[in-house]
Amino acid sequence: MVELKREIIKYGKRVVREGLCTSFFGNISIRDSNKIYITATGTILDELEYSDIKVCDIDLEKCECASSEYVVHRNIYLKSSSIKAVLHTHSFYSLFLSEANISGIDIYEFSSVIGNIGFVEGESGSVELAEKVGCSVKNYDIVIVKNHGVFGWGDSLKEAYIKISALEYYAKLMFYKNYEGRKI
Ligand SMILES: [Zn+2]
Repeated sequence: MVELKREIIKYGKRVVREGLCTSFFGNISIRDSNKIYITATGTILDELEYSDIKVCDIDLEKCECASSEYVVHRNIYLKSSSIKAVLHTHSFYSLFLSEANISGIDIYEFSSVIGNIGFVEGESGSVELAEKVGCSVKNYDIVIVKNHGVFGWGDSLKEAYIKISALEYYAKLMFYKNYEGRKI
C-alpha cells in the first residue's frame, strides 16, 4: 500500500536528519496483516523510493532483497500482534547506555515514554539475534544491541520513533553527565 511506503520514507528521512542513523545503516518496517513492508538491503534511508521497500509474507522466514535484519523484524512481529511497526537505528549515544549498563531511567518524563530497556548481544541479521530480541518483547519496550544499535517497536512508526528518539536524548544526557572523558 502506498500510504505505508510513504510512512516508511518519511521516517527514513527523519531518523537520518536527526542523527539517529547514518544514511546507509538502519532499517524500517510496518506490519499490515500478514505482510511486512520493510526497507530493502543496501538502501539509503533518507533517499528511499517506493521500489526500495519490499513486501514480505510474514509466514516466510526469508524475503528476497529485504534488509538483512528482516529476520529480527519478523520475530518481533511474531511475538505480539499489537506491534505494527519496527524501527532499527544505530543511535550513537544509546550504545553508551549498554556499555555502562544503565537500564533504569531516573527521569520520569523519559521513563514514561521509553519504558523498559533491554540489552542483548548478537551478530547482525542472525537468527540468534532475532531470537534474543524477540524474547525481549514480553518484558521490554525497546532493545539495545551491544556495539550495534537499537530496535524500537510500537503500534505505529511514530511510536517506535518517539521511543528511539527519547532514548537517544536521554543517553546523551547521561553521557555528558557521567562519562565524558572517562573510560567506561
Ligand atoms: Zn544495524
